[in-house]
Amino acid sequence: MTDEIDRAQEYESRMTEAAISHARANAEMAKGVPGECEFCGEWSGRLVNGACAPCRDKYKLG
Ligand SMILES: [Zn+2]
Repeated sequence: MTDEIDRAQEYESRMTEAAISHARANAEMAKGVPGECEFCGEWSGRLVNGACAPCRDKYKLG
């Protein structure tokens, strides 16, 4: 019985680690990706949520 619980906990912690690393990867993405701004169409080396820095200022996107 104990083994089963240990295994379940191990599985859970592995899943949590995977979730954390996935969330971390998403956070990295949120820092900025190169591409065309969805708002002004200008190319930016650092889009966050599809918006370049001037547009993030303009539309208060952070
Ligand atoms: Zn823009």
